[in-house]
Amino acid sequence: MLNEITKAQLLVWRLGTMKDSGTLKHTQVSLAKMNCVAMARDCARMARDIEGANGILDEYCAMRHMLNLESVYTYEGTHDIHKLVVGADITGFEAFRAPIKPSSKD
Ligand SMILES: Cc1cc2nc3c(=O)[nH]c(=O)nc-3n(C[C@H](O)[C@H](O)[C@H](O)COP(=O)(O)OP(=O)(O)OC[C@H]3O[C@@H](n4cnc5c(N)ncnc54)[C@H](O)[C@@H]3O)c2cc1C
Repeated sequence: MLNEITKAQLLVWRLGTMKDSGTLKHTQVSLAKMNCVAMARDCARMARDIEGANGILDEYCAMRHMLNLESVYTYEGTHDIHKLVVGADITGFEAFRAPIKPSSKD
């Protein structure tokens, strides 16, 4: 957990310095959002697990964070779409849509 949080902090710190110097690309923001949200979601799930049965109680916050992160996983741009954005950037091929098959009339 500490490893992953520290790596995510370093990633967003680096993107912050790139934004300040005017070199940041939107695809790198996708990379960071994809990584950080997925990591936070995994950490929250692990924290819930560590607390055992207490982890599902309102008195402890892990489950609330976990559920909150489920919505972040969608509203910060879904993991799938960020992955497609990054994939298009590094390969030059956009895979957002399946190729249109020619109809039998063509
Ligand atoms: C709590 C909350 C707050 C929000 N706040 C805002 C806001 O402030 N501003 C705003 O603009 N929007 C906001 N949204 C909307 C959010 O950005 C969209 O819900 C999100 O972009 C997903 O779109 P959708 O719900 O239409 O799902 P869909 O586009 O129907 O996607 C459904 C699933 O299919 C996947 N998918 C979609 N297209 C593809 C594809 N081509 N290839 C592979 N997989 C694909 C998606 O990743 C997703 O898992 C919010 C959503 C929530 C839940």
